[in-house]
Amino acid sequence: MRILIVEDEKKIADSLRKNFNDEGFDTKVCFDGSDALEVISKEKFDLILLDWRLPEITGVEVCKRIRNANNRTPVILLTALSNISNKVEALNCGADDYITKPFSFEEVLARVNALIRRYKFSQNMIEFEKMSLNLITHTLETETGSIKLPEMEFELLKYFLENQDRIVSREVLCEDVWKLKYTPTTNVVEVTVKNLRKKLEEYSSNKFIKSVYGEGYLFISN
Ligand code: CA
Repeated sequence: MRILIVEDEKKIADSLRKNFNDEGFDTKVCFDGSDALEVISKEKFDLILLDWRLPEITGVEVCKRIRNANNRTPVILLTALSNISNKVEALNCGADDYITKPFSFEEVLARVNALIRRYKFSQNMIEFEKMSLNLITHTLETETGSIKLPEMEFELLKYFLENQDRIVSREVLCEDVWKLKYTPTTNVVEVTVKNLRKKLEEYSSNKFIKSVYGEGYLFISN
């Protein structure tokens, strides 16, 4: 996950960066609004943490401009101002959430994770480990890039993700995913599982698809 931190107070920016890095996030920091606008126009982020009070261009203005440019990246405004009219202004500028200073990192982290999950869900993404499956484009998005899955590998992975921690038999997979009646000579399930396993193992050391002897397969992602 990649987060842009826009904050002119160096101490706060450094502390946020360090804490997010410790949590495994990739971070970038901008100290003013115009720098942030330039970076946002060129790079992709999973979320933007945006301070309200910035020199020259305010956080609210930055947020308005990126929404006007049709950028839907989730934005959380950081604000020291806690009165209700400012909260309304924060949400009216297109921010998804706001956090009042002073804050604890735990609170920021919880809000960030919740918002990223909500956004991915609305974008038709199913997340697992450090990957996500895009239900619209049928691509598997990983930290190192994305690959388009062949139709049945996509359908199978989607089925596994929706049925995690449950053993599914070849018969059930054949009927639910392929819409075919299973016969002992049917090997599409084995072949597709094998290909999908190979692909997933290129991106993770985790063995997601476990074979359960005599019963079928079990998909575990954590
Ligand atoms: Ca500030």
